[in-house]
This record gives sequence, structure tokens and C-alpha cells, in this order.
Amino acid sequence: MARDKVKPGRVPRQPMPEQPASERVQNFGEVTLGFSAELAQLEAERCLMCKKPTCIDGCPVSIDIPSFIQHVVDGDFEGAAAKIFESNSLAAICGRVCPQEDQCEAVCVMGKKFEPVAIGRLERFVADYVRGRGLSLAKPPTATTERRVAIIGSGPAGLTAAGELAKLGHSVTIFEALHEPGGVLVYGIPEFRLPKAIVAQEIGNLKTLGVQIETNVVIGRTILIDELFDEEGYDAVFIGTGAGLPYFLDIPGEDLNGVYSANEFLTRVNLMKAYRFPDSDTPVQVAKNVVVIGGGNTALDAARTALRLHPEKVSLLYRRSRAEMPGRNEEIEHAEDEGVVFQMLTNPVRFVDRGDGWLAGVECVRMELGEPDESGRRRPVPVEGSNFVVECETVVVAVGNGANQIVASTTPGLQTNRHGNIVAEESSGLTSREGIFAGGDIVTGAATVILAMGAGKKAAAAIHDFLQTLPPKTTEPPPLAAHLKPSSGGVLPP
Ligand SMILES: Cc1cc2nc3c(=O)[nH]c(=O)nc-3n(C[C@H](O)[C@H](O)[C@H](O)COP(=O)(O)OP(=O)(O)OC[C@H]3O[C@@H](n4cnc5c(N)ncnc54)[C@H](O)[C@@H]3O)c2cc1C
Ligand code: SF4
Repeated sequence: MARDKVKPGRVPRQPMPEQPASERVQNFGEVTLGFSAELAQLEAERCLMCKKPTCIDGCPVSIDIPSFIQHVVDGDFEGAAAKIFESNSLAAICGRVCPQEDQCEAVCVMGKKFEPVAIGRLERFVADYVRGRGLSLAKPPTATTERRVAIIGSGPAGLTAAGELAKLGHSVTIFEALHEPGGVLVYGIPEFRLPKAIVAQEIGNLKTLGVQIETNVVIGRTILIDELFDEEGYDAVFIGTGAGLPYFLDIPGEDLNGVYSANEFLTRVNLMKAYRFPDSDTPVQVAKNVVVIGGGNTALDAARTALRLHPEKVSLLYRRSRAEMPGRNEEIEHAEDEGVVFQMLTNPVRFVDRGDGWLAGVECVRMELGEPDESGRRRPVPVEGSNFVVECETVVVAVGNGANQIVASTTPGLQTNRHGNIVAEESSGLTSREGIFAGGDIVTGAATVILAMGAGKKAAAAIHDFLQTLPPKTTEPPPLAAHLKPSSGGVLPP
């Protein structure tokens, strides 16, 4: 449908409706509420439909952004969703948590003179539109192959690889160590930023494609990768085990009661619903004063989660200044609005014992900024004699995560780098072992949802190519699940 051209810049970027800060800290409901159809169309009208849409280059999974936005302008929201789904099967998630300001929106042509088109908000609107109406765009493959692929880890990398391979007709099983699939999407990112029901629904779409999910299976402990090949008959393996090993500060007192890693704290609250204790099995200490250490998204999530447990005060200590905080601007602003107290240029040096093995405070030293370090950010330098104690009963350490070694240490010939990340080709995810591919945080170190998805997608294409090179199976493959049995389309050639 033709539309009247809107003069660029005439309509401002549409703000996202959200729960007021004073209300939202009282609940775990979603902070941002999403566009209405009217707001979405108004925002979509701002798109210039560029001949050279730079936004697509900025998207790690290359969504055809102007095409989906055109569908929104036309009021064809299902068409818009179908367009996004061609490249991204987890749109409702990405529309909420992707750092669009560093990706598609950072290179949007509109952003050169005015504010960029709110691509992420539009993506979320479209995905929610179809979700809210129970429409699933996932179509089971019309034909299946005899090939079986094991995916280790059910974070965005594993889920994406699984979806892509299932669409190609391969038999895919995800093995997940935790009791629920989703990776950081369910155990790390809080409910108020990404409702778990949305993750569950997107995972449901994968199941429609025929993906099987086995939870409570730790590869490297319950079963080894070589056993998946030799005893279970898998033809290829994708490792997407993430970066779930928390780093600590390595300062005295870190083993005191009341000191949590962000992983443990967020898992207890998000996945185990500790805030409903005793109705849930897992408790979490609700203290009067909570201190969170770190300046990234995980620290902000931990601080905002802690606020919702109703302490008197939540402070966030960061050793550089606000300008150097690696967290998303939007999240920093949300945290400030909600009442998190930022204590910048503050570095913990010791956790203080109350005298009975419980935490009483954090001894800190003031910092000042010196010359830039290898990351380009100004190096924090301690100010001598500036030590002081911040009183608190709970501390959450959020200073980064690394790779868990369980899979690498139990898989001979799988090469890792000095940080313990699996070495894999960027274009294909191929590791040093034939038939084993890897992607996401386990390869790159802690990164983003969309980069993990991009890696899963590339690896799926490479796994598909690899499967074509295998000789036809001589033995009967293990029985396929009923819904994966060849349909009228028959079995595809290997
Ligand atoms: C608190 C927090 C907030 C974040 N916020 C954002 C955000 O807003 N936007 C954004 O883009 N990124 C964010 N990130 C980063 C993002 O979530 C990760 O980059 C992304 O989830 C990585 O995906 P992945 O699939 O590689 O790994 P993960 O999501 O970590 O998933 C790995 C999965 O593998 C499982 N696993 C591990 N070992 C084994 C094993 N041996 N056997 C079986 N299963 C195993 C784990 O249990 C886990 O479920 C955040 C991260 C954290 C911690
Ligand atoms: S670059 Fe911006 S204005 Fe141009 S097509 Fe993409 S979203 Fe629209």
C-alpha cells in the first residue's frame, strides 16, 4: 500500500511507555510496556526506506529491517513478523535485550541528523503482536534427514543453532545442565527486563520445529561428547555452553556469609524464585544494605533485582566513573530512576567480618582516573590513604564471567585459548575436532545475546554442509521421535 512520505525529522522518535519507577520497584513485572499499534506505525513512518539500508549491516543476523518496517507502516504486522522470522527466530527476546544503540540503530541513516529509528522497539512490537495472538511462525520441516545433531547448552547460541538445523530437517537434541532451558535468558536476565514466559514461548516454537530438549544433563559429567558420537549415534555436536563461571575479586573475606556472585544471586532470584520463599525452595538473604560491585549489565541487573527485595538501600560500587560504565545507558538510567545509589571511583579491597563469619561491610579505597589502558578507558588509580568502609549485610560481586572447563577438559583434542575459551573458526564455528562446532560466549567470552545467536546461525549452516559430506549411514539410526518421522516429503538425501 502506498503511503504519504513524512518529512524526515518531523515526527520525533517515539518513547517507550513504561511502569513509573516508584511502582515498578514494588514488583517484578516488566519495566517497559511496549508500543501500541498506533505508536508503532508512527515510529515506523520515520524510516526513510533507504536504498542502501546501513541498518541491515549493523544487525548481526542481517534482518531485512526496512522490509519489516514497511509491513508495519502498512499495518501488516503478521507480514512484518514473518520477515523478521526469516532471519531471527527469537525476535521477542532480541527486541527487549539487544543493545540496538550499538548495532542497527547506531548506523541508521536517520540517526545522522535526527534520532535513529527505534528498530528494537518495533521488532519487539511485531514479535509481541503475533505472540499475543498465539500465532506461531515456526513450521515443522516437510522432510527429515537421517542426521542427528547434539547441541550442548540452551542459551541463545544453542537455541538458534538448534532451530536452524531443525528447519533443515535434521534431528536435533539440546542437552542442558540446568532444569530449565534458556541459559542466561532464564537464569541471568531478570523477569522485569525479560519475562520468562516469553522465553518459554520462543522455546515452544523450537519444539514445534521438532527440537528435543533434555534438561539436567551435564555434558562432560552425565555423558561425554565422544559418547554422544560413539554410543548415541550423533553425527555432529555444537557447543554453546556460555560463560557461566563467575570471576571473583580475590580479596580477603570473599568467603563470608552474605557475599554472593552475581550468577548465584540472580539464579536464586530469577530461576529459583527466591523472592517467593518459603513458597519456593530456595531462599535469598534480604538485607538492609546491599552492595553490588561492578559496572556492567550484570551488576545493574543484580542491583535492580536487589531493590525489588525491599532493602533500605542498594549501592553500586564501580572503580571507574559513570562515563566508563560498560552497562547499557538505558539500564543505567533505569537503575538511577529506581533509586540505586551509584558510588563511582570506589574499589573494594576487603570484606569485613561481623565477628561470626557474616558480612558487616566492604572496605574500599577511592580511585582517580589515570592514563587510558589497553581497553581505551582511563585506568583507575588508588588514592593513597583514602580507605573507608561501606556497611552492608549483602554483597553481590558482578565483575565478569569466564568459560567453564567441564566440556573442554573431557573432550580430547578440543583446543582452548589462554582464557579457557574454545577455539573456533569465526565463519563456521568449526573447532579443532572434526564434527564439533562451537559458538557464543564459550568462544568469544561474555558478549551479547545477538552475537551468540549469530554464531549459532553460522555454525548451523556449517554443520549442515558438514553433514552433506558424511557417507550414508550403514546401520539403522536410532528411532526418531514420532513427530520427526518422515512425512510425505520423504527422507532428504544426506
Ligand atoms: C545478568 C546478565 C545480563 C545480561 N544482559 C544482556 C542484555 O541485556 N543484552 C544482551 O545482549 N546480552 C546480555 N547478557 C549477555 C548474554 O546473556 C550472553 O552473551 C548470552 O546469553 C550468551 O549466550 P550463550 O548461548 O553463548 O550462553 P548462555 O546463555 O550462557 O547459555 C549457556 C547454557 O549452557 C548450559 N551449559 C553449560 N555447561 C553445560 C554442560 N556441560 N552441559 C550442558 N549444558 C551446559 C548452561 O547451563 C546455559 O544454560 C547478559 C548476561 C548476564 C549474565
Ligand atoms: S538505516 Fe534507518 S532509516 Fe534507513 S532503512 Fe534502516 S532503519 Fe530505515
